[in-house]
Amino acid sequence: MEGALERATLGLVRIPLPSVDELIERSAVVSIPLVRPFRGLTHREVMVFHGTQGPGEWAAFTEYDDSVATAWLRSALEQAFDPDIPQAPADIDVIRVNATFPALSPADVPGWWERFPGVASAKVKVGEPGQALSDDIARVKAIRDTAGPDVSLRLDANARWSLDQAHDALMSLARFDIDYVEQPVATIDEMVALKRLLKDSGIRLAADELIRQHHSLDEVIASQAADIAVVKVSPLGGINRALEVARQAHAGGLEVVVSSALETSVGLSWGVRAAAILASEFGGLPDSGLGTGTFLQSDVVTSPLSVSGGAVAVCPPELDAGKVKAAEANPSRTAWWIERLRRCHSRLDEERRG
Ligand SMILES: [Mg+2]
Repeated sequence: MEGALERATLGLVRIPLPSVDELIERSAVVSIPLVRPFRGLTHREVMVFHGTQGPGEWAAFTEYDDSVATAWLRSALEQAFDPDIPQAPADIDVIRVNATFPALSPADVPGWWERFPGVASAKVKVGEPGQALSDDIARVKAIRDTAGPDVSLRLDANARWSLDQAHDALMSLARFDIDYVEQPVATIDEMVALKRLLKDSGIRLAADELIRQHHSLDEVIASQAADIAVVKVSPLGGINRALEVARQAHAGGLEVVVSSALETSVGLSWGVRAAAILASEFGGLPDSGLGTGTFLQSDVVTSPLSVSGGAVAVCPPELDAGKVKAAEANPSRTAWWIERLRRCHSRLDEERRG
């Protein structure tokens, strides 16, 4: 991990860090309405950069503190300014994706499923605040009934369950034939204990939030706390670091699933690029969590990444000036992002000198 972080940081040392004034000049803050509330949000607010190499997206959720947001900024600047950023292999045109289900009521499941034509897997949020296990069971049942027996089901609890809650919930949900559950519990010790409890259930465990901390992937591998590593470009600090993490996980015997963070098609396209590179290297990849463009009512690129035939296209993003303008955030939100940019830019600057 040390090596991975070092190389990822070098990615930005290799290229000059643009001044904060230049970045502000090249930036736009957009606020895009969601088709339905997700993660407690009704709008997705991000800053996009018109970089020298193409667009970059800074998608750190607004509640994140500056230390986390700075990693996401590194990802955006790498996208926008690094001329040596990895390219997708020419022979991979599409990446297969899963459907992503928010905490919907069962009645809304069939309509949502139609947003993901042709997919062979579905990921379902469970353990959401304010919901009971009975809600999760009803939702997963509705999805299994709608999608049929051949669709592979993945759950994501975002580390919200205690060990006991996770065990109870998963024993109840196992009857719907669950492939894996992302981050049912928060810690490595809990993951190890849960894995033991679930060993006859057929349900595998995936680490997502857990592997964002420095060295934590080493520990996940050493303790065999997970079967799958969920790799996301923006939270990990860019495609270079994401690829390193994925390769390390793969070498450590974990399956790698590339996923995303409710970005616009700019950010999503970097996940798609990472998935294409890894699919080529590993000789295949499980369905990626990159079909979430459908959560947004509009987008900022000329060709938004929509799901068709169970897949999204591998193509470099191109900002559409008219769409960016139409989605522009109000002046006070823009000012908030610019202040955040000043703070995180100075962190990056210190890091580079450090
Ligand atoms: Mg997750």
